[in-house]
Amino acid sequence: MSDQLINKKIAVIGAARSGIAVSLFLSQKGNTVLLSDMKTPEHHEELEKKLAAAGISWEWNGHTDKVFDCDLLVVSPGVPSNVPVLVKAQGLKLPVLSEIEVGSVFFPKPIVAITGTNGKTTTTALAGHLFETAGEKPVVAGNIGIAFTGTSESWGSATHGILEASSFQLDHIDRFHPVVSVILNITPDHLDRYKTFNHYARSKFRVTETQTEKDVFIYNADDDIIAPYLNEVKAQKWPFSVKKPLHFGAWLENGNLVAQLNGEKEVILRADELIIPGIHNISNALAGILIARSQGISNEKIAEGLRSFKGVEHRIEFVRELDGVKYYNDSKATNVDSVKVALQSFKQPIILIAGGREHGNMYKDIGDLLKKHVRLVIAIGETAEKVQRDMHAFTTVIPGSMDFSYAVNLARKEAKEGEVVLLSPACKSFDMFTDFEDRGRKFKNLVNGLN
Ligand code: ADP
Repeated sequence: MSDQLINKKIAVIGAARSGIAVSLFLSQKGNTVLLSDMKTPEHHEELEKKLAAAGISWEWNGHTDKVFDCDLLVVSPGVPSNVPVLVKAQGLKLPVLSEIEVGSVFFPKPIVAITGTNGKTTTTALAGHLFETAGEKPVVAGNIGIAFTGTSESWGSATHGILEASSFQLDHIDRFHPVVSVILNITPDHLDRYKTFNHYARSKFRVTETQTEKDVFIYNADDDIIAPYLNEVKAQKWPFSVKKPLHFGAWLENGNLVAQLNGEKEVILRADELIIPGIHNISNALAGILIARSQGISNEKIAEGLRSFKGVEHRIEFVRELDGVKYYNDSKATNVDSVKVALQSFKQPIILIAGGREHGNMYKDIGDLLKKHVRLVIAIGETAEKVQRDMHAFTTVIPGSMDFSYAVNLARKEAKEGEVVLLSPACKSFDMFTDFEDRGRKFKNLVNGLN
């Protein structure tokens, strides 16, 4: 299988985490590797030492024709498929592969690949947790922030690979063959990188392209966009739904998560036993149940894993309770759609901290939800004025300034017992923070310091 990726001349495009990991990995496999980037990477001196020690060459500040003097190109997930260097490579009929494709060619165990517009990281982490709870040793990697090829040292003892696969990674697969593939949902996002919505949906469906009837394809039966493509799927189709009972698959019924895979309906657990909030997380949990069952994990172990899964950092993450007020960090919510999901996850009145770097948000799209769920908005960051202007038709808005600590203390002062303080900014973080993780961690530190 892996013969095509040994003793080759390979150009890796993009020197971020995955690009660096895959360069080192391919070089270890006996390939001649050139790592090429449009910019000069941060801490490049350190990186250059590492590359030199591994016998890898590099070029920064632009791709030269050297990249076309190779047998194939490997592309880091952050690089869009339509950049000139990849368009030219494809014109020259040079194969262009993604990092998960490279890893999968060498990975010796079954692969579960999870894709969709929203919920990928949560479901991938959840699936990993369910497998670990059952005593398996999954490698959890991909878009989740861990390069697949960077985990190769643990492959010998691994039982499964559980991979979060973005559309960009799926654009450049060839033999990538998951035994279980999952499409969580498809909604209009990232359309800037695709010609049409159909192209975007098709790129998600590539996850099941090499599957046969021996494999399993898990999908969201509530998603109308997925439905028209189903007749092209060769794998066994395992649906899940939070809206309706099914004859086969997993669904929500009378407040229970149930599955029927052998002709008999089985209750796995009550939905209110999940720590992760919201109907969207019930959907993710149902996908997790099907993934685990497809690999022979028992209902008891699945229930145990679902009960103990605390969620992923920065995604409606519970921080603490103080004087009857619950604090949640949803720093990952960088657009209005994610805020919509967060607001729908709570029954309690919400004090919402929102704002940051503006990128054309339409706050009126969540007007009804603001009216229904949010008692007060504390507007922060560069976009505070716009947030205030656009949201005040629906709820009370007060300025929280560029001082994050001031905003969090204001929330503490305003919140009443039984309410929720939610950081769900709808905006990028770069006005006040390094990234959304930095914003989320600072929020948690401030909240944990409140008294
Ligand atoms: P991804 O990795 O696909 O970006 P995450 O698991 O990181 O997804 O979740 C990001 C945000 O997407 C969450 O904070 C939540 O707002 C929303 N979300 C998560 N799961 C779902 C789902 N199944 N359907 C719709 N929205 C979701």
